[in-house]
Amino acid sequence: MVIIKYGSGGSFTHMSRSTRDALAGGFANVISFDLEHWYTATLLRDEVDDPIDRIETSVEIVLDVLDEHETAATFFVVGDVAREYPELIERVADAGHEIASHGQTHTPLFELTPEAFTEELDASADAIETAIGRRPTGFRAPNFSVTPRTRWAFDALLETGYRYDSSVFPVKTPMYGVNGAPVSPYWVDRRRPFIDASPSDTDDLFELPLAVFHPRVRIPTAGGFYGRILPRWLLSRGISNLNRRGIPATIYFHPWEFNPEVRVDGVPAHKRFISFHGLDRAREKLGELLAAHEFTTCKRVMELYDH
Ligand SMILES: [Zn+2]
Repeated sequence: MVIIKYGSGGSFTHMSRSTRDALAGGFANVISFDLEHWYTATLLRDEVDDPIDRIETSVEIVLDVLDEHETAATFFVVGDVAREYPELIERVADAGHEIASHGQTHTPLFELTPEAFTEELDASADAIETAIGRRPTGFRAPNFSVTPRTRWAFDALLETGYRYDSSVFPVKTPMYGVNGAPVSPYWVDRRRPFIDASPSDTDDLFELPLAVFHPRVRIPTAGGFYGRILPRWLLSRGISNLNRRGIPATIYFHPWEFNPEVRVDGVPAHKRFISFHGLDRAREKLGELLAAHEFTTCKRVMELYDH
């Protein structure tokens, strides 16, 4: 399926012809899953006393859907989870998916010092290496907490051997986001990390921002709560809006979002709505998305961009 139509202008001016052809040949978008304990989500971590861990069944559901659609994804894995479930992480890697870091303890960068963040990067890389025999090249911050406040994150990532980040949410929401940040993947210049500096003056670090509906209509359509609450046709429209401009869409979900059994009582109504709305249809919706668009890993898209 050829998704991308090339016109004039837009981010693909930074791509070589071979990159554009590769994207048009079916490597257009990124599908990713943040693998954490469902009860460590910011809205839930103070609400649940004795949670039942459903991480293995949740991951199995996602692996099944990806397998049905022969799609490779990136799993951003919390280091603590990799320590506790090394066989599960190995199973995900063996199924052809990329394993990247989601921090060691799922602590947003807003609550960490640069030193503590560096320790998280090293510790999670160690945990992943123990599980699958290689260190991760990519990172996603809990709560997309890479913003101008935490711009030191880029230094720490480079110093600890990471090659890419996928944490910039290019629209301000109540919890996170960077207004005006690029909507297209870009090579980072640490002196001005929220501007697309490709291809000159960049450090050896790639950023894959999360998808919005349209470069000029920045409604979050990347996944998570938005992915569950918005109809599938609207998510698809957003992906197509980006693809038409030569921009790969980076989409994310959590494996627990596909497992209705994680739903618990006793959570305040608004948190329950944000956390659990749409769980029953999520699996079907993911299958529809994977059928309608081409997806691959973060690493693959990074490799397709020239540097
Ligand atoms: Zn997370």
